[in-house]
Amino acid sequence: MPTLIPHWIDGARREGTSGRTAPVTDPATGQVTGEVALADGAEVDAAVAAAVAAFPGWRDTSLSRRTAVLFRFRELLNARKPELAAIITAEHGKVLDDALGEVSRGQEVVEYACGVPSLVRGGFTENASTDVDVHSVRQPLGPVAIISPFNFPAMVPMWFFPIAIATGNTVILKPSEKDPSAALWMAELWQEAGLPEGVFNVVTGSGSVAGNALVTHPLVRKISFTGSTEIGMGVMKQAADGIKRVSLELGGKSANIVFADANLDVCVESSIFAVYDNAGQDCCSRSRILVEHPIFDEFVERFTARTKTLKVGDPADESTEMGPLITPQQRESVLNYIHVGDAEGARRLCGGEMPNGELSRGNYLTPAVYTNVHSGMRIVQEEIFGPVVSIMPFDGEAEAIRLANDTPYGLSGSLWTRDVGRALRVARAVETGMLSINSSSSVHIEAPFGGMKQSGIGREQGMVALEHYSELKSVFIAND
Ligand code: NAD
Repeated sequence: MPTLIPHWIDGARREGTSGRTAPVTDPATGQVTGEVALADGAEVDAAVAAAVAAFPGWRDTSLSRRTAVLFRFRELLNARKPELAAIITAEHGKVLDDALGEVSRGQEVVEYACGVPSLVRGGFTENASTDVDVHSVRQPLGPVAIISPFNFPAMVPMWFFPIAIATGNTVILKPSEKDPSAALWMAELWQEAGLPEGVFNVVTGSGSVAGNALVTHPLVRKISFTGSTEIGMGVMKQAADGIKRVSLELGGKSANIVFADANLDVCVESSIFAVYDNAGQDCCSRSRILVEHPIFDEFVERFTARTKTLKVGDPADESTEMGPLITPQQRESVLNYIHVGDAEGARRLCGGEMPNGELSRGNYLTPAVYTNVHSGMRIVQEEIFGPVVSIMPFDGEAEAIRLANDTPYGLSGSLWTRDVGRALRVARAVETGMLSINSSSSVHIEAPFGGMKQSGIGREQGMVALEHYSELKSVFIAND
């Protein structure tokens, strides 16, 4: 009998009143590992009520006490990282090393948040008008809904909740129904860390019911949504009804621009993992590679040769480089793009196949490389969210910039050159929230993270994140 993955409301596990559940499966084997409780309006109401009730107490908790709880959470997380990583690998299918990396990235935000309570401050202006001083205070919002995607079940929630909690808000997290156990695990860790009941709640369930009920709930003050652009558009429209604050971290189709003077030894290996990490299920995946003409053939040859050697297999095996996709449906969706790419006339140099034998039980797909592509093709325009890359040539900076910007998205990207002036010119012109020069890294706790165009609204991480989770109030003091 698979175990139930329940909600976490007001400091306790709750099975929910609907009695409805959905299976959670191990992507590597197809085996059902748990049954996730599907919330309906009643569970969402209970979770929001708990967050509302806990808010005044947490808002008025001293900064040093808030810091102490965050610090304790950080200590517990650090000590039990492998436990959380194993849960992620079992439900998501990413290789164990990547799962550990995911937890470490999340932990960095928790560490940052430990210092945040003492940074939440306003200002004071003497004699703003005659004999009137103005004292401004930064206050928390209240219950914050965090809706997160399947691809980073621990890290993405940790981009948001440590800062929301550090600034004095209460939280209702709705994780993806595909890999919900990490959220429950973190809720229990909060309790061990001494967070008061009701400050952090989890409701599990589908997006269309549980997610929707959260977005439309009148007592939710802010929605931090991470997921696809399509769903994000609907969330933004619904949030408008209650004038709810909303920040959106959405899809991407990032470009990796390789100039002829790039250090190819570093660039090829880095570009491989920039697209195939997490089996391509990464919002920052550099799934369009633009290569300057003089080195196009050499790059394609080296990139394809390395792609063919990527070890696809059991994510718990240390030698594996790429695990399975999250669900059979996700693999079907990627395979559909393979059919589309083939039909559009793109040239598939390798991959896009389901392995036989032992791996046929899981949602595996071999990594695919396409050339003979152009910007009008669907595989170049749309977010595939799987291990598929399109490589196309360009001539000079202007064409590189034009091609890089030629999608509705604007999340992330890389550019490779040893010419500093060119790097700065291109970085200025590319319309993305993040851009890496001679690297594939997009995330650093000090650096605001988020997208331009249809990749989102708002920036997380760094000091700017405090803006999302607090509001300024001006208090006028007449000194007569
Ligand atoms: P998704 O949009 O299908 O689901 C995301 C979350 O929204 C899930 O929890 C889902 O249950 C919920 N949801 C679905 N319908 C909803 C509705 N009507 N109302 C409220 N909530 C709803 O995305 P996914 O497949 O889980 O994740 C992949 C997507 O997330 C990709 O597009 C990826 O680029 C994006 N993503 C973006 C970032 C970023 O920082 N920009 C990070 C990770 C993932």
